[in-house]
Amino acid sequence: MKERILILGGTTEAYVLAEALAAHDDLRVTNSLAGRTTDPRLPAGETRIGGFGGPEGLTDYLREQRIRAVFDVTHPFAASMGWNAYQACHAAHVPLLRLERPAWIPEAGDRWDQVEGWDEAVNTLIQNRPQRVLLAVGRQELVPFAGLDDIWFLIRAVTPPDPMPEFPLAELLLSRGPFDLDSERKLLDDHDIDTIVCKNSGGVATSAKLIAARERGIRVIMRQRPQRPETPLATSVEGALNWLETRKEKWRCEREPAQAAG
Ligand code: NAP
Repeated sequence: MKERILILGGTTEAYVLAEALAAHDDLRVTNSLAGRTTDPRLPAGETRIGGFGGPEGLTDYLREQRIRAVFDVTHPFAASMGWNAYQACHAAHVPLLRLERPAWIPEAGDRWDQVEGWDEAVNTLIQNRPQRVLLAVGRQELVPFAGLDDIWFLIRAVTPPDPMPEFPLAELLLSRGPFDLDSERKLLDDHDIDTIVCKNSGGVATSAKLIAARERGIRVIMRQRPQRPETPLATSVEGALNWLETRKEKWRCEREPAQAAG
């Protein structure tokens, strides 16, 4: 009998984990995607798309599908799903592991303002009085910045914001990472950027801008990650696989006395 695993995905790590679990003959893996992207790349294993209907909906799903373990591999800024998974796994008595890439940490030479939210980021911009800002916050989080009418923004997004807030001074740059160091240096130089606003997503795909900023003494307003529930945590796919091995061992122990009795 195959044990059923649910991966809450939407990140690179979730694809890598799904690929690694595909080699386990004793598992049946379902990936869950929120459905924000049209025509998403499908991970290895089965895929379901769309919300569950809050923690209660996810609890029902875990019970109905007889899920034995959940991996929360959603993005570090997708906090609601993390809390939903925590509540649902608790209610359905299903073990939960959070797999999350480490956050970026400031290094010598960095000029970061670390902020809790976008209101604080806007206030920091008002205090610092920058002129030309690279806004790399995601297309759905632009609104708080649109009122800053004396700052020119280079808005970088993967897909067009819809609707696009009305910025008095802005240029939209559609591009998808990963971004290498040379192209990030060129971007900052070509646009004469003096400040970057971004989220502490971690990982290597979008970290080159931080090195380029450090080299140039450019300020970075870095939004901190939202608070997450206290759950077992792995910071690599390898760590997640090790955690699963301990679960498998437990399942074996649970099965063996039953088999011996039968
Ligand atoms: P969120 O605020 O944590 O989630 C909002 C709602 O979307 C959840 O309550 C849930 O709906 C549904 N949802 C989220 N992730 C899901 C998943 N993997 N499978 C099924 N339903 C899911 O998340 P978000 O910030 O909107 O992000 C949505 C997805 O995009 C996530 O899967 C995340 O990994 C990915 N993503 C987010 C960011 C970011 O910066 N936020 C960046 C890159 C990728 P129900 O309550 O109905 O279950």
